[in-house]
Amino acid sequence: MAIKNPENELNSTVENTFVTWSRQKGWNPLKIISGEGSYFTDSSGKSYLDMSSQLMCCHLGYGNKNVINAIKKQAETLSYIGPSFDTDIRETVSEKLKSILPDNMVKYFYGTSGTEANEAAIKIARMYMADKKKNKIISFYNSYHGSTLGSLQLTGDFRRMLVDSYENASGFLRVAPQFCYHCPFKLKYPECNLACAENLEYTIKQEGNIAAVIFEPVTGTNGVVVPPDGFVKRLREITEENDVLLIADEVMTGFCRTGEWFAVNHWNVKPDIITTAKGITAAYAPLSLTAVDKKISDFFEDHIFAHGHTYEAHPLMLAAASAAIDEYKNYVLDHVRRISPLFEKRIKELRENHVSVGDVRSIGLFGGVEINYDRENRIPFNTAQDKIDGKPLMVSRIAKYAMEHGVYLNTWISHFIVAPPLIISEEDLNRGFDVIDEALKISDAEVKK
Ligand code: PLP
Repeated sequence: MAIKNPENELNSTVENTFVTWSRQKGWNPLKIISGEGSYFTDSSGKSYLDMSSQLMCCHLGYGNKNVINAIKKQAETLSYIGPSFDTDIRETVSEKLKSILPDNMVKYFYGTSGTEANEAAIKIARMYMADKKKNKIISFYNSYHGSTLGSLQLTGDFRRMLVDSYENASGFLRVAPQFCYHCPFKLKYPECNLACAENLEYTIKQEGNIAAVIFEPVTGTNGVVVPPDGFVKRLREITEENDVLLIADEVMTGFCRTGEWFAVNHWNVKPDIITTAKGITAAYAPLSLTAVDKKISDFFEDHIFAHGHTYEAHPLMLAAASAAIDEYKNYVLDHVRRISPLFEKRIKELRENHVSVGDVRSIGLFGGVEINYDRENRIPFNTAQDKIDGKPLMVSRIAKYAMEHGVYLNTWISHFIVAPPLIISEEDLNRGFDVIDEALKISDAEVKK
């Protein structure tokens, strides 16, 4: 979301750098100068409570001294070394990850973004399945997996279409998502018998050469969609029975966001590959992870791992991860579990108190609020086409009100995401929800009469 600030003059950020996923014209960003705890501050000195952790990544808020000092210390000791060398910090982080990842995850590749983690996962799945001539990857519509050639083809939302005409990688298929509120099959759970999962199995059988299925255990950007009970387990059964790898994209859901180290833990499911980023360093440095199980790890003992980057296993990023994981272990996970009931109560109240709130979905400190023009018929205020056409969006008006009242919200088409730093206090959480509560009067006033 471009945040308009009429007092901000054209500068070299605006003139010489790109704003992503937007037309460049009219970009007039607020300048941010510092952050502390759950708040960040603009150049006029005004502070904002971050109710979305920016791009759902600032899990530890701003200014965490332990993470900052760990990065500083590592910079003074060894700031970079090529990825084929061993380092203390690489050993330390790998041991810590082993203790928190599902226990079948034994081998790790460190990249620098969620996109990179998924690109690595695609290649790993294809290399592993090459002898069986399986190369296609299935993902779900209503998903986001990254912005590069392969990861964007995995992506189910409209961003793929913006470049489809000239950026067409082959071997990618998408199927109808597990989205009960807008069920693609127009069925109701549980009478649907998980038609979405059965449709996936049908597709796998008809195609015949599927290497992997990738999914977000809780769909992030596209609405914080918590899957119906039984879906993730069924996904695991289907992929196992059909000799297809299961990749869990935990880029947004990893590292305590949902009240578990990883979202798949909620359903006790062990994927073959897990990708993650964001919370791994709480956004103090760019790091991502592609983790694989033993059979895949064994495969590469005798096959070339045909992948790599200059900044793989970068010591500074790993130092940030090491300190961030300690914070989660020491107090953050407990805090998330303690404060989640309040979060759930407050987000549910939004639906009870506002006619424009069609649906609220949440798990842990991860929530989505969908704004409907016609709640009875589940019709949102805006569509992806409105966003493509650059039409004004109702959620942007809500976010603008919130910013004016000192609260930041990440918005997307017709919903906003409530995902505060995992360290947020009860008082701040209530304050953030109070402002959201007021802001929703804007959409309430414009619902279908
Ligand atoms: N996968 C998911 C589920 C994401 O939410 C994102 C980013 O929001 C990505 C992948 C891509 O991560 P990055 O923006 O770090 O490349």
